[in-house]
Amino acid sequence: MNVNQSAPPVPPFGQPQPVYLGHHQSSYGGQPGSTTAPTSYGAYNGPVPGYQQTPPPGVSRAPPSSGAPPASTAQGPCGQTAYGQFGQGDVQNGPSSTVQMQRLPGYQPFGSAILAPVVSQPAVLQPYGPPPTSAQVTAQLAGMQISGTVAPASPPSGLGYGPPTSLASASGSFPNSGLYGSYPQGQAPPLGQAQGHPGTQPPQRSVPLQASSFTPPASGGPRMPSMTGPLLPGQSFGGPPVSQPNHVSSPAPQALPPGTQMTGPPGPPLPPMHSSQQPGYQLQQNGSFGPTRGPQSNYGSPYPGAAAFGSQPGPPQPLPAKRLDPDAIPSPIQVIEDDRNNRGSEPFVTGVRGQVPPLVTTNFLVKDQGNASPRYIRCTSYNIPCTSDMAKQAQVPLAAVIKPLARLPPEEASPYVVDHGESGPLRCNRCKAYMCPFMQFVEGGRRFQCCFCSCINDVPPQYFQHLDHTGKRVDAYDRPELSLGSYEFLATVDYCKNNKFPSPPAFIFMIDVSYNAIRSGLVRLLCEELKSLLDFLPREGGAEESAIRVGFVTYNKVLHFYNVKSSLAQPQMMVVSDVGDMFVPLLDGFLVNVNESQAVITSLLDQIPEMFADTRETETVFAPVIQAGMEALKAAECAGKLFLFHTSLPIAEAPGKLKNRDDRKLINTDKEKTLFQPQTGAYQTLAKECVAQGCCVDLFLFPNQYVDVATLSVVPQLTGGSVYKYACFQVENDQERFLSDLRRDVQKVVGFDAVMRVRTSTGIRAVDFFGAFYMNNTTDVELAGLDGDKTVTVEFKHDDRLNEENGALLQCALLYTSCAGQRRLRIHNLALNCCTQLADLYRNCETDTLINYMAKFAYRGVLSSPVKTVRDTLITQCAQILACYRKNCASPSSAGQLILPECMKLLPVYLNCVLKSDVLQPGAEVTTDDRAYVRQLVTSMDVAETNVFFYPRLLPLTKSPIENTTEPPAVRASEERLSNGDIYLLENGLNLFLWVGASVQQGVVQSLFGVSSFSQITSGLSVLPVLDNLLSKKVQGLIDSLRAQRSRYMKLIVVKQEDKLETLFKHFLVEDKSLSGGASYVDFLCHMHKEIRQLLS
Ligand SMILES: [Zn+2]
Repeated sequence: MNVNQSAPPVPPFGQPQPVYLGHHQSSYGGQPGSTTAPTSYGAYNGPVPGYQQTPPPGVSRAPPSSGAPPASTAQGPCGQTAYGQFGQGDVQNGPSSTVQMQRLPGYQPFGSAILAPVVSQPAVLQPYGPPPTSAQVTAQLAGMQISGTVAPASPPSGLGYGPPTSLASASGSFPNSGLYGSYPQGQAPPLGQAQGHPGTQPPQRSVPLQASSFTPPASGGPRMPSMTGPLLPGQSFGGPPVSQPNHVSSPAPQALPPGTQMTGPPGPPLPPMHSSQQPGYQLQQNGSFGPTRGPQSNYGSPYPGAAAFGSQPGPPQPLPAKRLDPDAIPSPIQVIEDDRNNRGSEPFVTGVRGQVPPLVTTNFLVKDQGNASPRYIRCTSYNIPCTSDMAKQAQVPLAAVIKPLARLPPEEASPYVVDHGESGPLRCNRCKAYMCPFMQFVEGGRRFQCCFCSCINDVPPQYFQHLDHTGKRVDAYDRPELSLGSYEFLATVDYCKNNKFPSPPAFIFMIDVSYNAIRSGLVRLLCEELKSLLDFLPREGGAEESAIRVGFVTYNKVLHFYNVKSSLAQPQMMVVSDVGDMFVPLLDGFLVNVNESQAVITSLLDQIPEMFADTRETETVFAPVIQAGMEALKAAECAGKLFLFHTSLPIAEAPGKLKNRDDRKLINTDKEKTLFQPQTGAYQTLAKECVAQGCCVDLFLFPNQYVDVATLSVVPQLTGGSVYKYACFQVENDQERFLSDLRRDVQKVVGFDAVMRVRTSTGIRAVDFFGAFYMNNTTDVELAGLDGDKTVTVEFKHDDRLNEENGALLQCALLYTSCAGQRRLRIHNLALNCCTQLADLYRNCETDTLINYMAKFAYRGVLSSPVKTVRDTLITQCAQILACYRKNCASPSSAGQLILPECMKLLPVYLNCVLKSDVLQPGAEVTTDDRAYVRQLVTSMDVAETNVFFYPRLLPLTKSPIENTTEPPAVRASEERLSNGDIYLLENGLNLFLWVGASVQQGVVQSLFGVSSFSQITSGLSVLPVLDNLLSKKVQGLIDSLRAQRSRYMKLIVVKQEDKLETLFKHFLVEDKSLSGGASYVDFLCHMHKEIRQLLS
């Protein structure tokens, strides 16, 4: 390939870089040797051509309006909404009972806050030095040194402490069996008043810092004691900050205003060790000394861990009861908010090795300057230990969550396509890594040294270019593969199956026409939709029509193939009843071009619902259907996708026949794993054949009862497909959700017949993979199909030393067939730092990605281990991670403190969400199919999806001014954050609830629901009336916007406070104790602390 530009010397990476004018597709597409002009690759990027905006005629888009029971994914058998055993009385105020707080064994009476100096982010330096977080947790945990004897609801002004208890007896009282399940009763979440709860107020970030906040209050109401007894040396807040360089500061203290904590009914009292002789200073959170609040009505402080400042003992004061304050423990909302404020405004430029990207919850633009965008790859840590010993010590999983075909926002360019002509992509001769910005050109540009294996390779003459004085090729910035983190190569025929360029892929629609499918209206709805949807099959670039061919099969116990050849006046049906030996009865006319056969296809889709309208056939087959689709693709010599619409357990006599083996009695036994395993190996075998053919299977399930999702989802899972489940499908209630998912699924761009390989520089290698794919060996991830929503999570282990200077490199190469039939390679490169200090590891972790990995690890674990073992493993690993930090990175401090690394301070709360998720700790209402369904969904989720799935977003709707159209700031997912005078939206990527408080103003009810009172609102409503007022429009707009952010349509469920449905809603308030026994956040943090202490002792 001749590139004649002689670019002027260009700045190295990390410097401002010239605009990539030279990369515009036109300059590549027309080069010699280019067989195809791969002009704009916009299909991955832009919105699909206006389909959503123009619903096809004839299909009612009218939303269902009845108030039928919700069909959420977490729903039981049809119509089941009975959660009646749960109380409905104490809705707004959280758990109504105060449970005894039990002391952790070995707690020390002193818990002075750890100070951690702010590092590396001068913009957020606090005037008084010590940064937030570690200390704040410290303080809170110190607050958990609670006596076993509790005076529940002791009056705020009184001496609320239980009688002092010795440590020994206290520790004996802790139900310490090591069983996670044994502690949740240990502590009750604090009780908060719904109104005026501090947590519902915006963080006090803007309040100017005041030096005066050091000063203890001179007089006034009841004070909190300092948690310190006599000050220990070095524990004074007034002293110099303890050196703890491994904290990245968080931008602003999460300091909840002191004085706001005591307003609720008191919870567990303070530990008995704190005698009242100690002055009750105004305590500040984590040394932030900062945000103070105007009038401080109470002097209670949530931060008992903070030492008395300086040494000015005040007069003894009566001590109020103290409760655990959830506001003092790390808040996901605050972390998300801080990151948005700090990192949302600047583009994330990828030129620097080892940069931790903004959180997935932050909106930011990415500029590719040599490393793959975080939209393609996110890592658990961007600074990895040099040695395996260090890695083992820290126990931080080293993993990357890769989404090779991720969709990008319109502002970001899709990867450029590079065409090297017949010679194909340039690669290292030894390790086969692809040319990338990290390859070192040597010997005047005649050779290059591989950055992965160090092999020296010759540069082919046609690729030769001179080097500048820095050793960089002068054309580096004209070539995507030398300057960008992500790009594509056109593949040569060597990269194609059977050394033949592929044909365009095909879509086959396979429709269950058994009794249930007909009766529910599904078949009619689907056929009607397909008539128009087929005009919107994925296209590439500026193509006028899609290259994808389509075919149709219907089935119950037998299969019906349709000839829809354009020359026919009417479609022809061919029945195959020998499902034991599936074959495709016709080749010509089965897979057709949509435009050419439009009339015949429309006729077929009109006729199908009529043909089977009177069917009495209730039995279905399943495996033969997939087999048939796969054989059809094989006969047509192309890759493709099967869209299966299926309703029931396939009990008809045929290969892959299943029986109902659902057994809830297996839950919490060693045999529970069998519920997640397929009941026959037939589907794995079938999946393998599908993968070999590049046949991806998307499964739409419409079950009325158990269908064995664990078995039916095997083929979709192993072929890179998707599973959708609509329990108890009814057209009027569920059509919007189903059609929305279907449209998106059919239109989305897919890479077919793909193989993904992750190469790494010497020292680490990819050892484990999670996702929807098949692996025939230890390195190649085979994906019959891969769409822009699917991720593959890859774990790395050391096989040698790394070094700080070179860092570590990843290169993900995805070979695939585009939807136009073009064979391509998409390359993503990412350079990470390496460290010899554990502190560097802990400073560069990303908790959201860690959780993504840990959830996938655990969800795979349930296939082979008892669920309890899986949970314990997660807890142990998390404790080890945090204990290692404490031991090696945190400054010396009292063992009674929990110290969390800044970037992992949400690890406990998020991990707890994983532990109490339906897969790992199912509630009574969760079905076996639900668990299997969620399990396989999570397996392919990206980091943003797991983040919101495990910790749902809860948005108050009427707190902010009605004119304010931006998304309201979220509140923590806890019942105490709900005010009964307000309305909230809750979403987790799959479910969407609108919770209405019982005391919501009448005007609000009228504006939103069009009825005059709360009692007239229909519980379970799934569509809000469209009303001509500001609030209604705002809420509708917000719902639309939330839906647009997610890959699956979220059906709305209106939940009224104190209504039966509320139990379902509360399931998603993940900071609270769950009905299935899941711990509250506070309890779990306490438990983690105990685990850590055990590891350290
Ligand atoms: Zn190499």
